[in-house]
Amino acid sequence: MRRRSRTLRGLKWVGMALCVLSVGFWIVGQWWWLHLRAGPRIGLSFNFVGGLVMIDHSPSTNYAAIEAQSAPPFMSVSERLGLALPHSFYIWNGIRFVLPVWVCLLAFATPTVLLWRHSRRHPRGHCQKCGYDLTGNVSGRCPECGEPVGSERESSAEL
Ligand SMILES: [Zn+2]
Repeated sequence: MRRRSRTLRGLKWVGMALCVLSVGFWIVGQWWWLHLRAGPRIGLSFNFVGGLVMIDHSPSTNYAAIEAQSAPPFMSVSERLGLALPHSFYIWNGIRFVLPVWVCLLAFATPTVLLWRHSRRHPRGHCQKCGYDLTGNVSGRCPECGEPVGSERESSAEL
């Protein structure tokens, strides 16, 4: 039980980090075009520009690198905002998958928000702050974190 809650807590922060990263790439992408090349064996390269994440699968990805160049000045408003649906098309030497950043953000934020809400709600008889089991507790304070448990008693009394 405790290990599970620790895993959920970890996932919550991973989710937060991915959301922050998505927004970060979105902002940086207004000025820079970032390339992350995974190298020849994987054949993948990730491009972040404007509000779009473009994942290329191509045998011409023949080296691993992180590169940046200034974003094309002719970038359209819809490219800047990433106003698109996920799609893919063939490029000269492979295939390109286009993921708008808002799709990534939605995909990361939804489970993150659910995890945060879940972690706030501890079952009755547990400390509402840290989730410690307060069965048989008479001190009126959570021994784990020191939170007063009076409000928890009142909500239990409603039953
Ligand atoms: Zn507590």
